[in-house]
Amino acid sequence: MDNNFYFNLLEVDRKAVSELYCLIPIGNQTSQVESLTSYISRLAEEHSVSVGMLMNKLIFPLIDNEYLLKSSQYGGNRFYDGARSLNGYCKNSIAFSKSVQSLTLRRDLMDLTLIRLKHIVSLRHLLKQNLSWCPQCLNEFKINTKVHYPLVWHFQAFQVCLFHETELINECPHCNNGIPILTRKSLNGHCPFCNKWIGYVGGDNKKECNTRHKSINSNIEQLLTLDTRNIQKISYSLERMVQRVSQGNIAEFARLTNIPKVTMWDWVRGEKLPDLNRLLSICFKLNISIKELLLEPYNSGVAEKSYDSYPSISIPQKSSRRVINIQLLRAELIKYLKLEVPISLTQVSKEIGYDRKVLYKHFPNECETIVERFSKYQEHRVNLRRIELSRQVRQAIHKLKSEDIYPSRRKVEEFLDKPGLLREQSIKLIWKAEVHN
Ligand SMILES: [Zn+2]
Ligand SMILES: [Zn+2]
Repeated sequence: MDNNFYFNLLEVDRKAVSELYCLIPIGNQTSQVESLTSYISRLAEEHSVSVGMLMNKLIFPLIDNEYLLKSSQYGGNRFYDGARSLNGYCKNSIAFSKSVQSLTLRRDLMDLTLIRLKHIVSLRHLLKQNLSWCPQCLNEFKINTKVHYPLVWHFQAFQVCLFHETELINECPHCNNGIPILTRKSLNGHCPFCNKWIGYVGGDNKKECNTRHKSINSNIEQLLTLDTRNIQKISYSLERMVQRVSQGNIAEFARLTNIPKVTMWDWVRGEKLPDLNRLLSICFKLNISIKELLLEPYNSGVAEKSYDSYPSISIPQKSSRRVINIQLLRAELIKYLKLEVPISLTQVSKEIGYDRKVLYKHFPNECETIVERFSKYQEHRVNLRRIELSRQVRQAIHKLKSEDIYPSRRKVEEFLDKPGLLREQSIKLIWKAEVHN
């Protein structure tokens, strides 16, 4: 590597010469676009340096972040462990795509991230922690283009390659290690641990691809090419869909799509961004595309009012947000408090879509009562069972005695068809008392 490689970055603009080759992203503007981390790894390869070197010498210094500089000085893996975020839409994705843009003088590198989904889906469960790939695709890339990782492979929901009807794999076929999204010595198509080619087609990964896989993959691909500038707010899109499907009844829509009611309320009120996996599942259940969900929800045959005439749900101001939610949630919780057959708090939290911790934090008393009621109910059930079993044991002993059969433990168990029953201490005591009676 010659010394020019390190020349003062501030001069890049003045000289209007790119610091790094102006490498063209693979699959740009298509649903098969490569990810930013894949691009960075190729960039390093093209310049015959390691990813670690490229980061330390050129990219990190452009990003004003103390921990990155520390990472380049003293090592440590914090940055690489979190590298999947580069392909998402957080601050890091923007900072890194901009830095690499300034080094390559390209303008399209943000398209290698999910910036376009920033106001549409939450980052929760969006991207995989490690790489996953289709080995056959890798082999084809090797022959036809350059080895790279398409952005779609990074989505948690994206599990199969429909081209090859194969399950994506996520472990090196040679050393069985999971492969991090980016490491200091990442080389696309190779395992950073054993350095071997991961496009090796070993065992049988053939996967019968069903309609669900097809719907998920095609919707994710659609998302990557969708012009999201027209989407004002995902909450509006959902609200319109609720109007179309269940005449504005959010609870009914939630039931139909199997999403907890409170979660759906949060989405439609714009308090939380939906997670992609659930949006995909709504699309599958309603047999619509994600594009339809986001952009054209009123193109149905149903005669309906124009969107403007729907009662609009105003987005509450920040200060009042929690208040509304608290009331709603409390009302929900109170319903559970009145259940004739109590259920556990875990089950309640599952059904209404809020974490136990959140519930406890805001409604300690209600939660206590739910826990208490359930535990009393459990106790009661245990008692009932004991009483019933004692009755049965007594009856069995009586019957056996009347037939001149010694009511041994085994005989009683056989009679009741409950093997092992008399190993329970409380039942055994009843048997003892009754036999020696
Ligand atoms: Zn494939
Ligand atoms: Zn390996």
